[in-house]
Amino acid sequence: MSYNRRKFLSVTAGGLATIPLLSITTQTAWAADKLAGNDPMAMALGYFEDAAKTDTTKFPKRAGAEGEKQFCDNCAQYKVTEEGWGTCAIFPGKLVAGRGWCNVWVPIP
Ligand code: SF4
Repeated sequence: MSYNRRKFLSVTAGGLATIPLLSITTQTAWAADKLAGNDPMAMALGYFEDAAKTDTTKFPKRAGAEGEKQFCDNCAQYKVTEEGWGTCAIFPGKLVAGRGWCNVWVPIP
């Protein structure tokens, strides 16, 4: 076997071996977990996947007719990533529900 052929086979085999690893790494980077309701920071900020479950005695910001219009999907911190879910600058690396809410809600300017 010539040096060039051996070198080619070595490089090609190495390249092919990295494709599955690259694929797994890419999937992991894109697949963020949904923010758990029992996450300590989520609990502290009153986050619920279903904004209607917000305890308005603890979080009066969401009380009343104006408060009931507040959802993650109309918050300035939200960026939709898939149907009904998106990322939030307050909870990096997690997905929040479009119909969720937390006490950091700010209107889209
Ligand atoms: S900051 Fe906005 S988008 Fe993030 S969890 Fe709170 S209400 Fe939802």
